[in-house]
Amino acid sequence: MPNGLKKGWRDECGVFGVFLRNSAISNEAARDTYYGMYALQHRGQESAGIAVSDGREINLYKGMGLVSEVFTPELVQGLMGNIAVGHVRYSTTGSSHVINAQPLVFRYLRGMVALAHNGNLVNAVQLRNQLATFGSVFQSTSDTEIIVNLIARYGQDRLEDALVKCMLDIKGAYSLVVMTEDKLIGMRDPMAIRPLCLGASGDNHFLASESCALDTVGAKFVRDIRPGEVVVIDKDGVNSINTLATERTAHCIFEYIYLARPDSVIDGINVNRYRRLIGKQLARETNLDADIVIAVPDSGTSAALGYAEESGIRYEEGLIKNRYIGRTFIQPTQKMRDLGVRLKLNPVVEAVNGKRVIMVDDSIVRGTTSKQIVNMLREAGAAKVHMAVASPPTIQSCYYGIDTSHRDELIAAQMDVEGVRKFIGADSLHYLSMEGLYKSMKGDAASFCAACFDGSYPIPIEESAYMNHEKLQHLRGGC
Ligand code: SF4
Repeated sequence: MPNGLKKGWRDECGVFGVFLRNSAISNEAARDTYYGMYALQHRGQESAGIAVSDGREINLYKGMGLVSEVFTPELVQGLMGNIAVGHVRYSTTGSSHVINAQPLVFRYLRGMVALAHNGNLVNAVQLRNQLATFGSVFQSTSDTEIIVNLIARYGQDRLEDALVKCMLDIKGAYSLVVMTEDKLIGMRDPMAIRPLCLGASGDNHFLASESCALDTVGAKFVRDIRPGEVVVIDKDGVNSINTLATERTAHCIFEYIYLARPDSVIDGINVNRYRRLIGKQLARETNLDADIVIAVPDSGTSAALGYAEESGIRYEEGLIKNRYIGRTFIQPTQKMRDLGVRLKLNPVVEAVNGKRVIMVDDSIVRGTTSKQIVNMLREAGAAKVHMAVASPPTIQSCYYGIDTSHRDELIAAQMDVEGVRKFIGADSLHYLSMEGLYKSMKGDAASFCAACFDGSYPIPIEESAYMNHEKLQHLRGGC
C-alpha cells in the first residue's frame, strides 16, 4: 500500500497497455485500461492518462488526480480504439502539473507514438545536455521526454529498432509501454529493475506493471518481460527482440517489501508469500515474548501474519486504517495536523489495552510515523510496544525510480538502532537482517537490487544523477 502512511517512499508510476484483435472499433481498450490503472493506483496518485489508437490516429486524455477523479464514464466511453496505453503517476507537491502527466503523445517521422514510462534514468543529465546541444527542446523535467527525443533522433528506423538503439543510450531503470497507430510495444531495462509483465485473454494481449492489473481485466498472466527485452504486439502476434540483457538482473527488492500489491506476482515471486516468509524470518530472528502481534496496515499485514504464524503469538487487528483518504483530501487544520497519523490510523483499544504488543511494519523511513503510532498504542493502553521491522534499516536513497527521502532524512542513516528506538519510543526495536531478507527470497542475492539497504548500486550512480536527485527532491519530474 504505497500511498498514504509512509511519507518518503513512493513508487513513481504504473503502466498498462492493451492490444485487442477486434474487427470493430470500440471503447473496450480504453475501458480495460481504465480498470488496469485502477488496479495500479497504488503506484501513483498524482495523475492518470489514457491514449487510444483507432488504427489511424491516437487520442489522449490525461489529468491530475486519481483515476476515478480524472475519468468520468462518459470520457472513457468516448475513447474509441483497439489499442491503448495508460499511466498513473506518483503524488508529490513540487511537480504537480499536468505537463508531467503521461502518456506522452508525439508525432515524428514515422507517425504518432504514445509512451508511458516507469523508472528513472541515471544518465538523464548528460543525455538532456547532449540532446539540447543538437537542438532538442524540452517541455518538462521528465526523463520520459529524453526517450521521446531519442526515438525522434532514430526516426528513420522502425519504432522497435529505434527503441533498441535508445536502450544503448539510456542507463537506469525503465519499464516502457509504447503505442503506435497499429502496434503495442513493451520494453524493460537490461537489469529488469522495475516490473513489467505480459498477459493474454484469447487473442488479446496486455502489458502491465503488476500482474494484479491483469487479473482485474480478466487476462491470464503469460510471463514477465525479460531483462533488456523489447516485445512487439501487432496484428501478426507477439514478437520479441532480446537485446542487452546483462549478466545479472537487479529486480527491486523494495517492490516485494512494500511497493507492489500483495496479490501481484513479480518475476516468479508472489508478493504476499514473500512478505509472509520475511515475517516468519523476523520472528525467528527476534524471538520476542508478547501477548499479541499487530500490523501497521496494509503493507505490514502479510509480514505480521507470518510473524504470528511462526511465533505462535496471536494476531490481532490492532490498528484500523481509513481507506478513503485520497489526493483531494482537504488540507487539515493545525489541530488535525497535530493529530497527525490519527487521520489515517486508529487503534482498537479492546485489542491492545493491557497487552504486550509486537507491532510489525515493513520499514521505517523518517521515524515520525512510527513514533506517532507507538504513542497511539500507549495511549490506547498497550503495556509494552515492541516494533519489528520486516526489512533491514533503510540507509540510502533510490536513483532507479522510487521517490525516496533524502539520505539525511532517513533515520537509520543518522542513528544506530538504539537511537531509532529511543526516537520512536518503543520498548524494543528489531530489524530484519540482510541475510534474512535474502533467505526468504527465491533466487540468489545477486539477482536483486537492495541498494537502499546496503548502498550497493547495481548501476553506478554518476555524479550528475546524484546532483539531479538532490535538486529534484523539490522538483521531481521523473517517473
Ligand atoms: Fe528498489 Fe531500493 Fe534498489 Fe531503489 S535502491 S531499486 S527502492 S531496492
